[in-house]
Amino acid sequence: MRVLVSVDMEGIGGVVDPEDVRPGHAEYERNRTLITAEANAAIRGVYAFEADSRVLVTEAHASFRNILPAQLDRRAELLRGTPKPLGMMAGLAADIDAVLFIGYHGKAGTARSVMAHTISGGVVADVRCNGRSLGELGLNVALAASSGVAPALVAGDDSVAEEAADVAPGMHAVVVKQALGARAASLLHPDEACDRIEEDVPKALADREAVRPLRFDGPVVLEVQVLRPNMTEHALLVPGMELADGCTVRYHAPDFPTAYNVADLVAILGGT
Ligand SMILES: [Zn+2]
Repeated sequence: MRVLVSVDMEGIGGVVDPEDVRPGHAEYERNRTLITAEANAAIRGVYAFEADSRVLVTEAHASFRNILPAQLDRRAELLRGTPKPLGMMAGLAADIDAVLFIGYHGKAGTARSVMAHTISGGVVADVRCNGRSLGELGLNVALAASSGVAPALVAGDDSVAEEAADVAPGMHAVVVKQALGARAASLLHPDEACDRIEEDVPKALADREAVRPLRFDGPVVLEVQVLRPNMTEHALLVPGMELADGCTVRYHAPDFPTAYNVADLVAILGGT
């Protein structure tokens, strides 16, 4: 089987603070071992389920260069660097059988959630598709569903596990830390976190057909709410972009993948 593993960092066991996941910081450099270990645990789980598999690991945090390539399981292929088509979901195609989300976190505005944010914590307050508020997990679940690909498992804190139950009922969730706040959590030992991921991946792949992911068929009204009114100004240069209120831009997308890309674009333009 072909499996895409999207690896973010805020939801990795062992990290609780922005310094832990910020490139260039000493803590970040140490935590690259942890993010690589959780990716490897997921890869082992895929091969335990089916030896004749192909695994694409796609980087989904910051500059998309976090995993230590030489320490990654050599059976997997690594999609590294940015920008790349489909961003956090690069490699998604109709011939992928399942997606695993490792190191994922709650959406912007979630209470008691480690480093909750959506796309860009310094710019985006909320993303809504046809009125429904979605975080990175929800957006990526819906993107997978639009290609007919099953989201099978998410690993992160307990808040993202709750979000998974909302956006993809039936998807497995591995809780590697219990959030105590935005910058604090009760942690599993990193080895224990990896063992739980490795053990649950085969079960999640077996159960993937039962997952009922959020799906948008047809046009999508995208609304991106930013933190300050000036962050809408560059986005409003995009043809078709409207100002919905002081901090929210609206875009009528013909389909969900277009809405997904435009949400990314608004976040980028809001930070310039
Ligand atoms: Zn993220």
